[in-house]
Amino acid sequence: MSAITVRVPAKVNLQLAVGPLREDGYHDLVNVFHAVSLFDEVTAAEPADGDATAAPLTVRVEGDHTGGVPVSDDNLAVRAAMALAGRAGRTYRADLLIRKSIPVAGGMAGGSADAAAALVACNELWGLGLPVEDLMEIAADIGSDVPFALLGGTAVGTGRGERLAPLETAGVFHWVFALADGGLSTPRVYGECDRLREEAGEAAPRPVVSEALLDALRRGDAKALGQALANDLQPAALALRPSLADTLAAGREHGALGALVSGSGPTCAFLAESAEHAHELAGLITDVDGCRAVVTAHGPVPGATIAGAGAG
Ligand code: ATP
Repeated sequence: MSAITVRVPAKVNLQLAVGPLREDGYHDLVNVFHAVSLFDEVTAAEPADGDATAAPLTVRVEGDHTGGVPVSDDNLAVRAAMALAGRAGRTYRADLLIRKSIPVAGGMAGGSADAAAALVACNELWGLGLPVEDLMEIAADIGSDVPFALLGGTAVGTGRGERLAPLETAGVFHWVFALADGGLSTPRVYGECDRLREEAGEAAPRPVVSEALLDALRRGDAKALGQALANDLQPAALALRPSLADTLAAGREHGALGALVSGSGPTCAFLAESAEHAHELAGLITDVDGCRAVVTAHGPVPGATIAGAGAG
């Protein structure tokens, strides 16, 4: 019985510019993704022989705070494995085990990460040998953030975020993430963003990538990057979860180079000057109300990568 384990990173959005709502229900985006060293692991194992009536794909989820993660065909890792089997044109079997560290519904694309990891793990387990370009296509059909979890690094996504171009970066950036109690629904945050704009009589601007941000990344300039961080979803996330304003303020007070809500939230991200500064900052914001845990991480890191193969 063999098994493949894939490690996959969370993302933080360095810039999330949200344009007008399109006819297909998505928004036009400029989305600068950055993969950070906070990982889920997905193991795909060949099921034990003998139970021909068992479902071809099963899933289990391990880790703290995994409430809300479906253990059914709705799990994004299962959906990805089913899409891959469909592409290969036959039924394949696998038992999936997800070890979660990425916060659930936290704005760090944990579900998308698991989908990407399942694609890589099952491609290997089933000996399909599909090239990454094919996996990227399947990934884009599953969700806008899935292709980036395959790619990793730092990249700009346009369209609904799924058309990706890797970005040049220098050095390592050090981060602190304040994980919140409970999640925020991504569609609800986008809906609130539209509602706030309508209320203010504001037309959604055409999303444009920030040149200052690209320049800071190229030069590895953390201070300039901190100033260029931007998230159009932040006002909506703060409207739905007002306590996040205190979390962001605590990080800024304690010397973060930049502070923003990650994607649709409620995770808050803080850029630090160095690994030491990140640890110091993490210690100082632990006690803020509504903050479940504080973790440090660095980026950029590679996308979904095989971490081990062996007996299941
Ligand atoms: P994003 O940053 O892409 O908007 P998120 O980080 O806010 O996403 P996820 O953790 O990806 O949110 O999960 C959102 C919802 O997707 C969960 O509440 C859950 O119902 C569903 N889901 C399906 N599969 C998974 C999975 N493998 N891990 C986490 N959530 C999953």
